[in-house]
Amino acid sequence: MEKDFAMPRLTSRVFTDLAIWMAAFGIAIGLVFPPFMTVLGLPAEAVFTPLFYTASILAGMFAAVANYLLARTVLRPRLKMLAERMGTVEGALKKSVYENHFSAREHNKCFIEVDSEDELGEAASAFNGLVTTLKRSREVEHAAQAFAQALSSDLDLESLGERALALVRRYAGMQAGAIYVEQEGRLALLANQAIANGESLAQSNFLRETMRTDREATIHLPLDVEVDALLTRFRPQEIMIVPLDYNKQPLGVLLLASAEPFSEDSRRLIELFRQGLSLAVNNAVIHSQIQKIALLDPLTGAYNRRFGMKRLKEEFNRAQRDRAPLGVVMFDIDHFKSVNDTYGHMVGDRVLVEIHRRAEEVLREGDVLVRYGGEEFMLLLPGASRNDSSHIADRLLRAVREARFEDDDQLIRVTVSAGVCAYPEFPAESAEVLLNRADEALYKAKRGGRDRLATLDSTESEHERQARLEDADAGG
Ligand code: GH3
Ligand code: MG
Ligand code: MG
Repeated sequence: MEKDFAMPRLTSRVFTDLAIWMAAFGIAIGLVFPPFMTVLGLPAEAVFTPLFYTASILAGMFAAVANYLLARTVLRPRLKMLAERMGTVEGALKKSVYENHFSAREHNKCFIEVDSEDELGEAASAFNGLVTTLKRSREVEHAAQAFAQALSSDLDLESLGERALALVRRYAGMQAGAIYVEQEGRLALLANQAIANGESLAQSNFLRETMRTDREATIHLPLDVEVDALLTRFRPQEIMIVPLDYNKQPLGVLLLASAEPFSEDSRRLIELFRQGLSLAVNNAVIHSQIQKIALLDPLTGAYNRRFGMKRLKEEFNRAQRDRAPLGVVMFDIDHFKSVNDTYGHMVGDRVLVEIHRRAEEVLREGDVLVRYGGEEFMLLLPGASRNDSSHIADRLLRAVREARFEDDDQLIRVTVSAGVCAYPEFPAESAEVLLNRADEALYKAKRGGRDRLATLDSTESEHERQARLEDADAGG
């Protein structure tokens, strides 16, 4: 910037300096005026007199005072207004530091009317720009803070997705959006707000490809995205696909749709949110994985005993309350010790995993398969009567019987035995009693020769049962 000439400063006040310069100017005019008069033809005797000099200096001073007053009246109010507004901004800013809010009313009070095309006008419009930027910066800061706060405490993936999406849409002014996360190698829709075909977009190759990059992609007039507005559907002007990743590991994508092209401002805001959102999604994904792991048996992936017992109690309480049946099947691999002894523990483990897999195949949705102990499993069958449960146990037995487990070139065959019991046909008073009864039935199946299922007659007395078991013992 070129440096303008400035008069040297004399005092600490600009207007006092101006007054002094004006007075000096007035005196200089007063001194120059008489000789100038002689040039115009006035006689020197009339001009070079103390009186003429005094009058001339006084006239110069008078002009100087008038000039000074004029400058003051023209400039001062504007400068004063500028100073005042700056004070207002400072006050508003101070308030907003703790209240986290720069209100529109406060904002409007800070503006200066731009009514000149010179440096003062420039100062006023620069000042107005400053106020607007300040307001925006407070807004962005507030948005980022609210965003981080809202997300940091949420470890539930689904509610996190919905809330994050609502916040991004609100702050970035988007009509619609969706969040997809990668689950088991595929993109799954986590949250969707007003994207009409959000579910089917999960299959989009473009989304997957963008997820693997670290730059967002913008599509102008996309053909395959529709926004569900209140009464109509429309195609957005632009969509933006923002990859979410953590430590360069892709997590998913954020899709945003806008009725107008994205502004530079909203792009930057989205980039700001991307980092927080990625972090929060990563935390929630890990949390859900840990929670899942805590419920599962590491070898087979079946539910572990702790979780199984909890579910058994819950299901039993529900069955009691709703007077609904609940089937329980206990099953155990036959002569498993000899599988281990013959082929080794590693092969034994593989057999366990395979039996779990086969058991899963005969289950219905809502059934719960639990690894109860070493090679013993518990099956909870909500809604299944004793008959239904026996059917399922029978299918399980057959599935295992038909399976061939390979060890090098040897084929291993295993069987399981199962004990079946169902509430309320057996009127158990607690979940434990129901489970014990299924366990007793399993014992009966083992005694009966294995590779079979057994139930206990619900009307059978304890004495009769003992007698029958002894018979079976003697027979088997
Ligand atoms: P039964 O027909 O009466 O059930 O005979 P069994 O040999 O299956 O019963 P037993 O209770 O005598 O032996 C169970 C065996 O299961 C003993 C143990 O080594 C084996 N086992 C338990 N858990 C595991 C496991 O995680 N991996 C392997 N490989 N074996 C296991
Ligand atoms: Mg066994
Ligand atoms: Mg056993």
